[in-house]
Amino acid sequence: MIKTRLAPSPTGFMHIGTARTALFNWLYAKHTNGKFCLRIEDTDRNPERYFPEAVDVIYNELKWLGLNWDELEESQYARSSRHIEVANELIKKGCAYYCYLTPEELEVLREQSRKTGLPIKSPYRDSTTPPPSNIKPVIRLKMPTSGVSILNDIVQGEIKVENQLIEDLILVRSDGTPTYNLSVVVDDHDMGINYVIRGADHINNTFKQMQIIKAMGWELPTYGHVPLILGQDGSKMSKRHGATTTEDYRKSGYLPKALFNYLLKLGWSHGDDEIISIEDAIKWFDAHDILKSPAKFDHTKLTALNALYIRNSDDEELLNITLPFIEEKVQHQLSQNEKSLLLKGIPYMKERAKTLLDIANMGIIYIIDETSNFTPTFDEKSIKTLNSDKNKIDEIIKDFEEKDIPWTKEGINDYFKEKANQYDMKMGDLVAPPRVAITFSTISPPLFEAMVIIGKQETIRRLKTYR
Ligand code: GLU
Repeated sequence: MIKTRLAPSPTGFMHIGTARTALFNWLYAKHTNGKFCLRIEDTDRNPERYFPEAVDVIYNELKWLGLNWDELEESQYARSSRHIEVANELIKKGCAYYCYLTPEELEVLREQSRKTGLPIKSPYRDSTTPPPSNIKPVIRLKMPTSGVSILNDIVQGEIKVENQLIEDLILVRSDGTPTYNLSVVVDDHDMGINYVIRGADHINNTFKQMQIIKAMGWELPTYGHVPLILGQDGSKMSKRHGATTTEDYRKSGYLPKALFNYLLKLGWSHGDDEIISIEDAIKWFDAHDILKSPAKFDHTKLTALNALYIRNSDDEELLNITLPFIEEKVQHQLSQNEKSLLLKGIPYMKERAKTLLDIANMGIIYIIDETSNFTPTFDEKSIKTLNSDKNKIDEIIKDFEEKDIPWTKEGINDYFKEKANQYDMKMGDLVAPPRVAITFSTISPPLFEAMVIIGKQETIRRLKTYR
């Protein structure tokens, strides 16, 4: 059975690169009927970086993306004694040794190593002389000193490294704590992980980790190193490229399905298919097809995909996921009545929205009334439009109050058509100022439909209030 894993460090955010790695691991596990495991690598306890809530961020963001895990190892830190046990076993096997080099001695060796281009060699590797008593040693792994190591990476292909170039790896620090490379290997082994799919920035670590695995006589997992995600300028995707975390996208109103689809396509493809459902992704995704060349993150493309997912969403489902956005905007929980008004507006909004935030912004127009504690803000263009012809707005109010206009899309349309004829002007121009008073903007979902949804009384109230 194939067992994949995600092994994030709790940093307090989930970079989209980590999300994509999670996605690939999850998909491949699902595709093969295997298991996707999650392991929290919380060994860095530096109080400046470590805070326990950061672990919840990992759980929440993965859940938001729909990437549920089959097994959880919630603390690598808690397994430290097991990692040390393996280091001691390696010493017993003669594959590792205590190294007593002082920082000063190390500096001298590093200086030499810079000149020769070869890694430092600890005199304690093969020494039989008794160690100094006042120094706390580190434990180093004996790396092979000749030959080449070959990594058959399912994404990167074959990579070779000359063994003499790899320094004897520290497994346990002088304070007795295990190093990252040791902990990862032991945990992957103990969890039965046989596919390690992770960022290409770990390739160097892999060559070190493979030696620990060999020394222990364990089976090597299959490795796949996924290229990093680049920004539009070709450099590594970072904060200066804009939104880089899943939280950024969640809070700006992106649908998890859209981000899922976009991240999947970024680094893997299935013919020309742009829209790939989760079910199809599970059917089609093979980790061996992950693309080797790094992909550039394209916000515009993601946003277009998000708009498409919004348009294709079921009205009620869309309403439900938009609720938190709109409730934050109006600062109260929506009543049943407000929800049903909003639901009527959803078909018009989903044609226009790129994000759920867009829907929240537009959605206001369907729900506010005289009891709402909401003050619209008008941009400059809207104010200009409103002020352009107040007399006509007054006349329209009068007509609405006195005439028996059928309150349907067609009825309202006929009314404005006739009125525009009367004034000898285009209907669009006539409708522009009332549109601002009713929808608080010069651009809005279809106006007559909105007027029908909010009703005649509310239409008149807004025209009077905001004229
Ligand atoms: N904890 C490592 C990280 O967050 C990942 C380790 C791994 O995937 O092997 O970069």
